[in-house]
Amino acid sequence: MPHPSGSTSRPATTPFTVNGRTYCPPPRPVAVLCLDGCGDEYLDVSLAHGSMPHLGRLTQQGYRGMVRGALPSFTNVNNAAIVTGLPPAQTGIGGNYFLDPDSGEEVMMNSSRYLRADTILAAAATAGRRVAMVTAKDKLREILSHKMQGISFSAEKANQAVVETHGITDVETIVDRPTPPIYSADASLFVLHAGVRLIEQGLADFLYLSLTDYMQHKYPPEAAESLDFYRAMDTEIGRLVELGAIVAATADHGMNAKTKLDGSPNVLFLESLLTQRFGAGIRVICPITDPYVVHHGALGSAVTVYLPPALNVAEVARWLIELPGVTEVYDRALSARKLELPADRIGDLFVLSARDVVLGRTPEHHDVSALAGPLRSHGGRYEEMVPMVLSGPLRPEYVAKAAADPRNFDIFDFAVNGVHA
Ligand SMILES: [Zn+2]
Repeated sequence: MPHPSGSTSRPATTPFTVNGRTYCPPPRPVAVLCLDGCGDEYLDVSLAHGSMPHLGRLTQQGYRGMVRGALPSFTNVNNAAIVTGLPPAQTGIGGNYFLDPDSGEEVMMNSSRYLRADTILAAAATAGRRVAMVTAKDKLREILSHKMQGISFSAEKANQAVVETHGITDVETIVDRPTPPIYSADASLFVLHAGVRLIEQGLADFLYLSLTDYMQHKYPPEAAESLDFYRAMDTEIGRLVELGAIVAATADHGMNAKTKLDGSPNVLFLESLLTQRFGAGIRVICPITDPYVVHHGALGSAVTVYLPPALNVAEVARWLIELPGVTEVYDRALSARKLELPADRIGDLFVLSARDVVLGRTPEHHDVSALAGPLRSHGGRYEEMVPMVLSGPLRPEYVAKAAADPRNFDIFDFAVNGVHA
């Protein structure tokens, strides 16, 4: 059920505990932003060009640093981690896509039935906050709003939101913008503007705003299109701060060019290579796979490999790590420990590739002609470190936390508990 709309009452400050952490919300709006695909260099270049004056001010008055995301550095994995405050081993979401051990089928992991933890958003709503969860891609909406009382909708399907399932209707009027195409800068800008409008109208005081990385897949930081996009995002961030919100921004992953020097995609087709060397029956699953193929052609820098029982796992791992372009190979048990992955939802091996290399199955499996431009992608170690920006100065214990090994999925803790209100 939605909360009564348009309330101007003070935001609730009742503490709540979820997934082992207690959150003591301040009496002001809190807006956590996931700037999808925002490697720190996008902020650096935009700041240097004067495209982000509000962010520049936040950096001076508040905090800007780096946090470590969850691996594989994919969207669903990190969004699930952020809304729960937990690593993938505990959320159960280790990819966009996986091989369901029960059915043997390859399926999208975008349903809340795969989520193994409660969310901070649902707990905040139960504690009396007016919660809104707005995503660019509709694929994330259902999983991130799991068991949550409040508002949830996507930019992609904004005009389809209805009170019964989304806690809101007539979104285009409330946001004062038409539903944007998913392959656009507007898909992300709509989400941020929705956050502004929901706070302005007293409809929400605890928000998670999750964008899409279409622009970062398409353009490097110094492109004019990127600078325009970051300037427009900065305007919305400025409005959120003006409205009295604590603004906390991080990313799900960074983004790197995955091309050879001639600009062609730099791909290792692992299933083909493994089959050539070890024979039939080997399956490579690309956990980046999702319906938005224009972004990346289902090519990222992490895959998991299922081997037939006859093969020796250690021998295959040894062969893989020798391949130029492969940087890390772990068996299932090590993946669970070192990469914090759910052991029952990965194959026998988990493989990461170099900064400029992506991993695929077979040439036939990936339609690189669908790509909108030179391949830029993510998924591995080199897209793991992402920025964290907070609009206010940190309390002393959070200064220490920020200097240690903070994670992008600590962002709600930092925003709610760590900023001087
Ligand atoms: Zn992403």
